[in-house]
Amino acid sequence: MVVDPILLVGAGLLGLCVGSFLNVCILRLAKEDKKQRSLFHPPSTCPRCGRRIGWRDNVPVVSWLVLRGRCRSCGQPISMQYPIIEAVVAVLWIAAVLAYGPTVRFVEAAVLGTILLGIAITDARHYLIPDEYNWTGLVLGLGLSLTAGVPGFIEGVLGAATGFALLYAVGLVGGWVFKEEAMGGGDIKMMAMVGAFVGWKGVLLTVFAGALFGSLVYVPLLVLGKRKRHVPFGVFLAMGAAVAFVFGPAIYDWYRRFLGAA
Ligand SMILES: [Zn+2]
Repeated sequence: MVVDPILLVGAGLLGLCVGSFLNVCILRLAKEDKKQRSLFHPPSTCPRCGRRIGWRDNVPVVSWLVLRGRCRSCGQPISMQYPIIEAVVAVLWIAAVLAYGPTVRFVEAAVLGTILLGIAITDARHYLIPDEYNWTGLVLGLGLSLTAGVPGFIEGVLGAATGFALLYAVGLVGGWVFKEEAMGGGDIKMMAMVGAFVGWKGVLLTVFAGALFGSLVYVPLLVLGKRKRHVPFGVFLAMGAAVAFVFGPAIYDWYRRFLGAA
């Protein structure tokens, strides 16, 4: 698809700003204390010296490069995570507009991709999937599905219900088999959110692809005797959801023809 260069630049700049906000989400939503989880208050400060970060030191990617990765007041290093996440989200938004043009599908891809990135990083680090990602995504996913009329909305609701029910069932069975909590509540809510974007078929594909990615990583670890107690399943579900969103329609098509030919 040929896309107007202005749209590409616009999507990139918007992606940088969203990436900057995602950094705040990643930092604060993992906090246990509810009061520290506010995304808008207090304003960003340097984690080392506590000094407030002014707007000119808060420009995505650029400020970090200008300051050479050091705080303006204390000179201590600022994590490279910040510019990297900003750049990754910008690339994601540009790729989405390149793939889908200025359409609702582009907005869905950009929003879902950003939320999945936030979930994957938080789950990998802290073994938790903050509700804020799930609820925001669920509302946005269902809202965007409304643009496809009543059938689109029904597909979104059905997807969310399937995601919730399937992961709930997996958790229940896993609990009986392993005698410990197999599925955190975060995974169940996450899949309801994912279902709102990818529909019920997408949920099945997400769980299948997620389990496959998870096995590719964890089976070798098991064989090497490095069994990990916790598995951040949200990371693999996020990868599976991305596959379902991007390749789902082509895969369902192929599957239908495969069944027809058999
Ligand atoms: Zn500082």
